[in-house]
Amino acid sequence: MRDAAPTTIYLKDYMPFGYLVDSVHLTFDLADHATRVTSRIAFCPNPEATDRTFFLHGEDLTLIRAVIDGVEVTPNVTDKGLTVDVPDAPFIWEAVVEIDPGNNTALEGLYMSNGMYCTQCEAEGFRKITYYPDRPDVMSVFTVRINGDLPVLLSNGNPSGKSEGWAEWTDPWPKPAYLFALVAGDLIAHPGQFTTMSGRDVELNLWVRPGDEGKCAFGMEALKKSMKWDEDVYGREYDLDMFNIVAVDDFNMGAMENKGLNIFNSSAVLASPETSTDANFERIEAIIAHEYFHNWTGNRITCRDWFQLCLKEGLTVFRDAQFTSDMRSAPVKRIHDAIDLRARQFPEDNGPLSHPVRPESFQEINNFYTATVYEKGAEVIGMLKRLVGDEAYAQALKLYFDRHDGQACTIEDWIKVFEDTTGRDLTQFKRWYSQSGTPRISVAEDWQDGTYTLTLSQRTKPTPGQPEKLPQVIPVAVGLLGQNGDEVRATEVLELTEAEQSFTFSGLAAKPVASILRDFSAPVILEHDHTDAERAFLLAHDTDPFNRWQAGRSLAQDTLLRMIREDAAPGTNYLDGMLAVLRDGDLDPAYRSLMLGLPTQSELAAALFESGNVPDPMAIWTAVETLRQATAQHVQDLLPRLHSETLIDAPFSPDADQAGKRALGGAVLYLTSRLDGGAKAAEEYAAADNMTRQLTALSCLLRAGAGQTELADFYRQWQHDRLVVDKWFGLQVTTASPETTPDVTRTLTEHPDFNWKNPNRFRAVMGALAMNHAGFHRAGGAGYALLADWLIRLDPVNPQTTARMCSAFQTWKRYDVDRQDRMKAQLTRIADTPNLSRDTTEMVSRILGA
Ligand SMILES: [Zn+2]
Repeated sequence: MRDAAPTTIYLKDYMPFGYLVDSVHLTFDLADHATRVTSRIAFCPNPEATDRTFFLHGEDLTLIRAVIDGVEVTPNVTDKGLTVDVPDAPFIWEAVVEIDPGNNTALEGLYMSNGMYCTQCEAEGFRKITYYPDRPDVMSVFTVRINGDLPVLLSNGNPSGKSEGWAEWTDPWPKPAYLFALVAGDLIAHPGQFTTMSGRDVELNLWVRPGDEGKCAFGMEALKKSMKWDEDVYGREYDLDMFNIVAVDDFNMGAMENKGLNIFNSSAVLASPETSTDANFERIEAIIAHEYFHNWTGNRITCRDWFQLCLKEGLTVFRDAQFTSDMRSAPVKRIHDAIDLRARQFPEDNGPLSHPVRPESFQEINNFYTATVYEKGAEVIGMLKRLVGDEAYAQALKLYFDRHDGQACTIEDWIKVFEDTTGRDLTQFKRWYSQSGTPRISVAEDWQDGTYTLTLSQRTKPTPGQPEKLPQVIPVAVGLLGQNGDEVRATEVLELTEAEQSFTFSGLAAKPVASILRDFSAPVILEHDHTDAERAFLLAHDTDPFNRWQAGRSLAQDTLLRMIREDAAPGTNYLDGMLAVLRDGDLDPAYRSLMLGLPTQSELAAALFESGNVPDPMAIWTAVETLRQATAQHVQDLLPRLHSETLIDAPFSPDADQAGKRALGGAVLYLTSRLDGGAKAAEEYAAADNMTRQLTALSCLLRAGAGQTELADFYRQWQHDRLVVDKWFGLQVTTASPETTPDVTRTLTEHPDFNWKNPNRFRAVMGALAMNHAGFHRAGGAGYALLADWLIRLDPVNPQTTARMCSAFQTWKRYDVDRQDRMKAQLTRIADTPNLSRDTTEMVSRILGA
């Protein structure tokens, strides 16, 4: 049972804990329904604290015994934790508690997944393991002994002893409890080895369940590359003798950076060419890097409190993006990041869930593991780097590591290292951390006597709790092109700091065409009223790869909006532009496939709403279908040649080169199957020798209204592989027509393999429903009701995943009155469910604006 009236926690109320922890000894006696946890913790008064209340967090624990300095005590225990009188001097706290991992379906604390014990303690899961000051600013060294009859017993740090039925681990680096981890199971190691820059040998292991041994090689290589990259680029060396990764099937997040013992959702680490798509490989490489990079940005330097979550996440996402750019194609990565930010973060930042990168209050911290904290948090660091330059960034990071190693820090500490390195006053820049909402930049141009003047204005709409907005520091990268397409001014970064500001460029022979916000230099919405002809010019000539892609994207969006609003025909500027791009064999295939992408239907709905229209999901879907069909017809003569360009005459590799060719091949197959009813896709499906080809062909067939035989065949082939079965579920929902989407989804929930308590399977189906814009928003509200039914069912089992998926409703106010009423009714039905979790209660009330 959760508390009826959740309390709100505020950043401004931060107080240090009254005691420091010198050491922690934990002993686990594992049993499915009665695991005993014995703790022995050395506390001493914290000289920097004024409040000496001795409160230890603890939830869902049965206290067997508590002892202070050898004397049994009787603490005052509530459902949140305990208080007890303690000496005003160093003392030893000992406690024995019992917990029930076998019935822990929330997947926080110690739980079981397919007979294996594992933990998830970030953010506040450790309090479900034992009584402890479960807050990130309390750091300690840990020794852990595990007693159990499972063959593999793992915890953080280095192994310090083991024999039949037990193992002991010692972590020499002080850490907060959220980085604690324990794994026990029947696991097999895929071993590896890494020698650090100072010559220390590190033993690496990727632990999996029997049967998954063949899916480890790629993850292991990605880990080694990450370790090397962090040494080369950031000078960061690994600091233990061993590094373990464990794959777990039941996991709420992608992965977790526990010190020396990373725990991964199996979908984020297991890979093979037969079962994983190129997108899976790229994501796995990035997540392994991300969790590894946390060893310094998160673990060695951690967060003072959970309001500072972006301190570790924004920086680590930024670092993993740099890594991917270095391993693959930097422009392609930048385009992917912009697509992702617009699809996930912009709706959040421009709706009822809008919050600053550093929130100032929360009820349930699990609800703030958001695209704003992570992805916008990373964009803020990218802007900082752009403003101070690469060299100053490197110096500031060195200072950060030197000054704060072993500490629990704040955004103020982070900003200060940049101020101390550069001498710059970053007070105004800090608004990026406190002000929510996406800034919009509008553009006015003037041309007189060889001088070009660019006037940029910024404004941010009111967001919940923030009616007034102040100007932010926005780095706007700008280049100028001549009428023949030559670059007449190379990229320079303009610093927009006022509400409106003008920048002049003189000595020009003719009026230039401005390429603004190059490389997506800030996470903003650029409102630049280019004509189709100007966009087509930039699409053909822009020397900045991001903006060249953006020109095509904007041209597509303008074309689609005209088709929706005015029932216009697809414009020739767009169609001819696409033809030219596809013909250009000098362009990277991955880049050409990205050029063919269209804005998402949800983005189009947002654009319509912003310009004062009520978006009609069916009209949007129809326009997108019409434009796709027109594109297929317009470029059809080129398709056979493009197809042959994408053939690969080499063994499979998930590298960027081959993945790019397969991406373009997939885009070409999609256009082809619109013209031939799926004939070519059926051939491709039959010939497919890797998952990317197989899944792409199946997707093309289903979208063409064919492929039922292949769909059944796919299931028969892969029914033993849970990660591929997730794809099989998801694909049917994403490719369903708007009319059939709710029914297709409902039918899938009746399938014997719809194991809804597994977060991956639940997301594969319900997440796909929310992503199918026209299907989810089908008139009559069947999609809304279906999702709400399942969220109500999941909430008592797994509040975290339920709460996160409520965001499917966050855009409810964009739509017509009927849809608004239906979504509101479902949100109210969820909110009125008896005993609703704190997580879901907070999310639904924020979405409703209550
Ligand atoms: Zn992270």
